[in-house]
Amino acid sequence: MIAKVIVDVSAYPVDRPFDYGVPKQLVHLVEAGSRVKVPFGRRNVLGFIVGFSDTTDVPAGKLKDIAELLDLTPVLTAEMLEMAKWMTQKTLCYEIDALQVMLPNALRAKYEKKVVLNVAVTTLDESLQRVFGKRQISTYKLFEKEGLLAPLKRAIRDGQVEVITAVKQQGKAKTVRKIKVHDDKFFLQELAESMGARAKKQLHVVQWMSEHAGEEFVPAELAALLDVSDAVLKGVVERGAATFTDEETYRDPFSKEVQATNALTLTEEQQQALTSINAAYDAKRAETFLLQGVTGSGKTEVYLQAIQHVMNEGKQSIVLVPEISLTPQMTERFRARFGDKVAVMHSALSMGEKYDEWRKVQRGEVSVVVGARSAVFAPFTNIGLIILDEEHESTYKQEDTPRYHARDAAIWRSQFYNCPVILGSATPALESSARAQKGRYTLLKLTERAKHQALPSVEIVDMRNELHKGNRSMFSTALAQGIRERLERGEQMVLFLNRRGFSSFVLCRDCGTVVQCKNCDISLTYHKTSHSLRCHYCGYEEPMPTTCPSCQSEHIRFFGTGTQKIEEELHKVFPEARVLRMDVDTTRQKGAHERILDAFGRGEADILLGTQMIAKGLDFPNITLVGVMSADTSLNLPDFRAAEKTFQLLTQVSGRAGRHELPGQVVIQTYTPEHYAIELAQSQDYEPFYKREMKMRHRFSYPPYFFVVLIQISHENAMKASDYAHQAMRFIQANLSPQVGLIGPTPASISRIQNRYRYQCLIKYKVEPNLIEALKQLIRMYRTDWIKDGVQLFVDLDPSSI
Ligand code: ADP
Ligand code: ZN
Ligand code: ZN
Repeated sequence: MIAKVIVDVSAYPVDRPFDYGVPKQLVHLVEAGSRVKVPFGRRNVLGFIVGFSDTTDVPAGKLKDIAELLDLTPVLTAEMLEMAKWMTQKTLCYEIDALQVMLPNALRAKYEKKVVLNVAVTTLDESLQRVFGKRQISTYKLFEKEGLLAPLKRAIRDGQVEVITAVKQQGKAKTVRKIKVHDDKFFLQELAESMGARAKKQLHVVQWMSEHAGEEFVPAELAALLDVSDAVLKGVVERGAATFTDEETYRDPFSKEVQATNALTLTEEQQQALTSINAAYDAKRAETFLLQGVTGSGKTEVYLQAIQHVMNEGKQSIVLVPEISLTPQMTERFRARFGDKVAVMHSALSMGEKYDEWRKVQRGEVSVVVGARSAVFAPFTNIGLIILDEEHESTYKQEDTPRYHARDAAIWRSQFYNCPVILGSATPALESSARAQKGRYTLLKLTERAKHQALPSVEIVDMRNELHKGNRSMFSTALAQGIRERLERGEQMVLFLNRRGFSSFVLCRDCGTVVQCKNCDISLTYHKTSHSLRCHYCGYEEPMPTTCPSCQSEHIRFFGTGTQKIEEELHKVFPEARVLRMDVDTTRQKGAHERILDAFGRGEADILLGTQMIAKGLDFPNITLVGVMSADTSLNLPDFRAAEKTFQLLTQVSGRAGRHELPGQVVIQTYTPEHYAIELAQSQDYEPFYKREMKMRHRFSYPPYFFVVLIQISHENAMKASDYAHQAMRFIQANLSPQVGLIGPTPASISRIQNRYRYQCLIKYKVEPNLIEALKQLIRMYRTDWIKDGVQLFVDLDPSSI
């Protein structure tokens, strides 16, 4: 028997399974999807069994055996093994990276494994009973040492025991010690009668226990309840009135209780959307829906009821949200509807907590997962629905290997399970809208807010005029007046600071000009080292100007203000305002987001001031004003998606105002009110923006009309970085057709990170049959030779930002 194993050795030129012999004692235990240790070179490495075969090309005598089997129950399903192959093709990553990304970190590292009893020890196979003895938990190693893996595997199959990975937690124990009162009331009464009066406290406890036979308590809580010391509890346990048990519990990542909710009566539009989705599910159709609904139109309610529909048939759902720790309000809505049928997976959880949630999913103890990007790999085996909320968000794309997009993975899984996918957004990605136009996705529209409130009125303020009028403050007259009114009326406000592309471009405060590349119509980026402006698309460079190229004003400088500075200014101008600031500095601690939002929800502040993290998901009835401090920052990102991202952000943050009874107002401050992304954000109407932006993309040959591939190369030595980048470009040029668009190599927008010089090349193409093969060859060249010289190269087939 030969096992095909993908080994954990990146930086190896060949990416393929290696053959290993299966030793006799493991023959009936190995399964595809299990982790193993195998000899590779001079050491043992981690690997995954991906299949079996009867024959091998490895010459007799050279074939090595699997050294150790790490999982009796596979950690990866057959579906996941298949998905990994797909991902390898789709992102040109190592298969090992694709396999690893689907697992929680706890399973990537080596942790001690334990075997936990689920039944009375006496019902086990005798050989296993010996190892457990009187304990509920034993180490896996003991079974291995005693050669008991075969009976252990049977016991796992029958659900008598299970193997867990013991991830140590700081502070929080994974097993909770409980005290269990004796089952027999009469035994306890007799015991009490037999006890002498000297042990007064113990007697009191035993008498109390006789009324609570068979119940379980946390010792410390019981001691507090009965007002006795731990020593007293120990005493009664010694008398046999109770026993201590070590019970495994899940660490609870939910810190607070939520109020249960019931399904709302849907609006007509919501009902139509739900009917289409349910129909696809009922027909077992892998259909992708683009649910395009204005902010506050009740997309979440559609998700909830669609989930309910598949749940009624015992099916599972995955809900992806951009970064869940940023939107506790969103998770709560799922918990409020589905209670403990929901598992949550996001980056703010500790490794142990993540592993616990993963296990709940793997064992089918929950039927809904709400999580960030990687939750798309939730190990469900009976999926009925997958949802991506705010599907346009760039966090769905992993910016590290494997560079997958959660949307693609979701659609892949939906095809595997023949179930629908919902992509929800008020401002879909242009790619998604284009696919809906072409009929590849089914478009579902919610054009009205759920409670029929009007969308907030949006006012665009030209900050150049403010300066000319002599207002040098960061608050325009309109915004300042809006704030003052809200303070008087006791309503709440959100002030939003757009910090994307912070301070890397140069702007004239007099006329609003941002210095642009002559060739590319994209903002030039300021490079500190050379004190110059560069276009990182075409490499054009010019010295940092001292006066504005259009109006000769000297008020030309970098652009950007921090939240802290705004907070200080707020205190100066509105001393009575209570301000909560939410940015990276105030949210470093776990749970901080939630605390700040809760405080705001309780009305403990008038103003919530923050960055990107407050743009999404907030649903507070008392917010009637949203102020955008500077719309321009993201507009001037040197990226062809800059306008799209700006429009999305402005629409989203505007949508926080007036969601309930009170009408909302939005003030957007900008230096470029004439830009279409800002102009069109005023009406919060997606269609005109889509049409306009598609024209731009067409004119400059960008997605969705063309595909873009990004190749990035870095080295500690600037010359070498440039050399290899040129080599890569020449190689690509030689292997692709002449009509393909090649740009670069140019220094990346942040040309030096962690002391590495970065260069990038862009490939723009429509149809290019040789592309994948050429890129694979380039990668092979890199893995075989270049890498030894300290260069790093990656290829991104679908870069979310450039
Ligand atoms: P979206 O996700 O589209 O921005 P939400 O799902 O947050 O919108 O809904 C906005 C508000 O409207 C929420 O407070 C929600 O509870 C409420 N809502 C949604 N659907 C209905 C409905 N059918 N009837 C009454 N209220 C609704
Ligand atoms: Zn100017
Ligand atoms: Zn350029």
